[in-house]
Amino acid sequence: MPRAPGTISSVAASGTEQIRGRSMGFLARTSVGELKGVGPKSVEALEEMGISTVLDLICHYPRRYLDRTQQASLANMVPGEQAVVLASVRRTSSRPLRGRRRLVEVDVHDGTGWLRCTFFNQPWRERQLSEGTQVALFGKLELYQGRRQMTNPVVDLVGDRTRRIVAVYPSSEKAGVATWEIASWVDEALRRAGPLADPLPSEWRSRLGLADRTSAFRGIHVPESLREKEVARRRLAFDELLRLQIVLVMRKRLLEYRSEGISHRLCRAGAPDGSGGSDSSLLDELITELPFKLTQAQLTAIEEVCADMASEHPMHRLLQGDVGAGKTVVALAGLLVAVQSGHQGLLMAPTEVLAEQHYFGLRSLLAKMTVQDTGRIEARRPVRVELLTNRTSRGRRDRLSEQLRTGEVDILVGTHALLGQDVRLASAGLVVIDEQHRFGVEQRAVLRDQGRIGTGKTPDLLVMTATPIPRTAAMTVYGDLDVSVLGELPQGRVPVTTKWVREPSSETAVWEKVRSEIAAGRRAYIVCPLIEGSDRMEARAVVAEHKRLQEGPLAGVALALLHGQMPSREKEAVMTAFRDGDVGALVTTTVIEVGVDIAEATVMVVEDAGRFGLAQLHQLRGRVGRSGLPSWCYLLDWSASEDGVRRLEALERTTDGFALAEVDLEIRGEGTVLGTRQQGRNDLRLASLRKDQELVLAARRVAEDLVGRDSTLHAHPLLADELRLFIDEEDEAFLFKS
Ligand code: ADP
Ligand code: MG
Repeated sequence: MPRAPGTISSVAASGTEQIRGRSMGFLARTSVGELKGVGPKSVEALEEMGISTVLDLICHYPRRYLDRTQQASLANMVPGEQAVVLASVRRTSSRPLRGRRRLVEVDVHDGTGWLRCTFFNQPWRERQLSEGTQVALFGKLELYQGRRQMTNPVVDLVGDRTRRIVAVYPSSEKAGVATWEIASWVDEALRRAGPLADPLPSEWRSRLGLADRTSAFRGIHVPESLREKEVARRRLAFDELLRLQIVLVMRKRLLEYRSEGISHRLCRAGAPDGSGGSDSSLLDELITELPFKLTQAQLTAIEEVCADMASEHPMHRLLQGDVGAGKTVVALAGLLVAVQSGHQGLLMAPTEVLAEQHYFGLRSLLAKMTVQDTGRIEARRPVRVELLTNRTSRGRRDRLSEQLRTGEVDILVGTHALLGQDVRLASAGLVVIDEQHRFGVEQRAVLRDQGRIGTGKTPDLLVMTATPIPRTAAMTVYGDLDVSVLGELPQGRVPVTTKWVREPSSETAVWEKVRSEIAAGRRAYIVCPLIEGSDRMEARAVVAEHKRLQEGPLAGVALALLHGQMPSREKEAVMTAFRDGDVGALVTTTVIEVGVDIAEATVMVVEDAGRFGLAQLHQLRGRVGRSGLPSWCYLLDWSASEDGVRRLEALERTTDGFALAEVDLEIRGEGTVLGTRQQGRNDLRLASLRKDQELVLAARRVAEDLVGRDSTLHAHPLLADELRLFIDEEDEAFLFKS
């Protein structure tokens, strides 16, 4: 930092306004060592805490705040009470205990009374808490031999500060940096920096009621009141979210505008004059063919997909809809649009069972549909759908590859096998990924890349998920996608009745229900306990449970086994028998967790249910209640953990996937939702996706406004510079150098 006071760097225009003050870039180039009072030792210690520049330092936010006017006074505290006490050290001593341990005793006084603090096995306390040191102590007041005392309290060296609000920083005893030192360095840094440049246009600032950046940094570090701190937090949290959203919006725009897509025709190509004739489109035919009426949500989603596919930019869309909302038909509509305009479609599902189901479903719906035969005007041929999984034979696979390359196959349905090198298409028009959360982002890329082979253009992409993550989290995790939501279930669905069965004695009633439903022509799933990490052991457990049920509670019922270790052919045979009703109940693992769609299934029994995740249980429950028939879900568990209880109770309370997602977020925390995306400097330190939903939405709006159509941030150089400081190299290369 320059020594001369008053040298304020001014930064060029952003938008219409002139912004003066220090930029983040400047602070990031200034070492903490340049601050008064930060010697080489402290520089080293700070380094250990990940702080090397002034920017790092001022982004090292307080862990909590002490309001001195609200502190407990020793005179008024009663034994058993837990509180923070601000006091000064009057006497420190130490003595050895048995077994080479040491006891440090510290007497403090806060102006109203005395307190003794005892520290076991923390010898450094003697040096740390010398006479005259100002400390904040957090602990439980005890009475020991008539003396008021705290054992191993949490200690913060707050220093002799006169402010009403004292900020307490994450500090490091090991590295020898105390919270009061950090506070004084931050204070010095902010004072020396003077006004900070604010990249957020003032119109947005006032529209959103956000503080300016200079006062936000002061307010988070040295607030006059807790209310001021909150105002500051709101602004700085917004900045974190804005940076994140700008990256996502930029990435999205680049994908859309820098790569060439296919403009699909929404009407069928008719006569050679291009008049289109009076032929209806394949999409119209599909709608006539369906045994039900589409919901409004489905119609809207189909419209959105069609509009994207017709545009010259590649589609990059997420279809989010709760279990059973009817996502498949939206995908189908897209696939038919691709086919009728002379391209091919890929549909990838995470399990063999699901891929097969899609394949058979498509075959029967498309049975009567035809497409124009390439090269032969007037000639038509049936739409051709094929299936590719890992068990497709070598010979068949080779033939399929050939037919894909020549364009004879219109739609290819499959599992991960679709990612294979030999899957190359004549002209990939649309890639659909079902249950996207089961795949990685890389796989999305592989499919699309392969799809390019054929036309040199980027195929459209539709990913589908039932993972009901809250909207604001979705905006962050899937922020580079457009989102269509199926927010309603088809009409006539009866909510599944969910019951947590807490005692073995109630089990009989469950099996009776299974029996009576099967007798009435329905089906049941019985999902066996989760065994982590071993498919073999899991299979064995399923076999054992099948035997127990068959010989005991479900004797005489047509039961069948289904687990991942069975040969594919056998699995397929079991599913067919179950679909046809020859098998009444499946004793199974989570292989049936996603996607499986059998209308007559009305009972789901999950054993040891508390051990499954909330999203997983919601998916499992989604296997029933897929028609107008009343359905039941029984969650068996007599020894659920604390979190297990919360999950089971939540499931009993609601069938709304989004409400459950909120609960899940609460139980598991945010890190797990964001995955690895949130790491490094740009992690959310102050912002919370759960608590700051309104700010997430605002950040998205602002990001969309600021990132021009050309996605260069030309109009906002300050913001662009700042962004580079916070994003990782990979993002930077993609966003700024391409
Ligand atoms: P998911 O969104 O879970 O993938 P599916 O696409 O498998 O749901 O649809 C669930 C079931 O609902 C299927 O049997 C499907 O045929 C049926 N379905 C889809 N749309 C409708 C609708 N509009 N009306 C009635 N049933 C529908
Ligand atoms: Mg599905």
